Amino acid sequence: MRIDVVTGFPKLMHSPLNESIIKRAQAKGLVEIVLHDLRDFATDKHKTIDDTPYGGGAGMILKPDPVFACIESLQRERRYDEVLYLSADGERFTQTLANQLSLAANLILLCGHYKGIDERIRKALITREISIGDYVLTGGELPALVVIDALVRLVPGVLGDSESLLTDSFQSGLLDGPQYTRPAEFRGMNVPDVLLSGNHEEIAAWREQQQVKRTRERRKDLLET
Ligand code: SAM
Repeated sequence: MRIDVVTGFPKLMHSPLNESIIKRAQAKGLVEIVLHDLRDFATDKHKTIDDTPYGGGAGMILKPDPVFACIESLQRERRYDEVLYLSADGERFTQTLANQLSLAANLILLCGHYKGIDERIRKALITREISIGDYVLTGGELPALVVIDALVRLVPGVLGDSESLLTDSFQSGLLDGPQYTRPAEFRGMNVPDVLLSGNHEEIAAWREQQQVKRTRERRKDLLET
């Protein structure tokens, strides 16, 4: 999978993309994540990527020309499954959408900033708009990192034990249950006996019960759907 990120603030993304599982996924060649600085596509000597809104009002708007130049240059090189814009008014990002997008070969993620982006970019270039929740952030860089993280861990080979994905919250319609590791007793709190029993069938049944219990307690709506 290849993910091209179009942003005016690539440095915001460097550290999260260069740590832990996402770093290893790139090193193994399972995913390629390429950051494109919009300022490289600005044509004036000050590398301007934003301008004031027509009609007046507060905030700056990302200009269309650098965004068109960047995305069109990428599209000349390969076919993209989706050109995604991270946007507070987009479709809500869910595990189902992450599963779907993780099957893509090539994705572009466009990060807005300031007051947003020129509407003509959305009309002409964007195929899908994604929101990570009902709140407004300063830019699309953190939402893009959320989307990248959720997709990359689904790419085959990225997680050592891919079975672990299937028992994660939301994958089976249930939340994940409680997890324990050594020591068996810590400050008077014990690991449930069943997990120490070595009986795989009983352990699987207990885990399923715990998933249902936790989902009923925290997210009844998931059981209804
Ligand atoms: N004026 C916009 C509005 O009211 O919807 C908010 C613009 S926001 C300050 C700047 C950029 O942050 C947006 O263009 C978008 O790329 C990103 N952004 C902010 N909140 C987001 C969210 N919840 N999900 C995805 N992207 C978001």
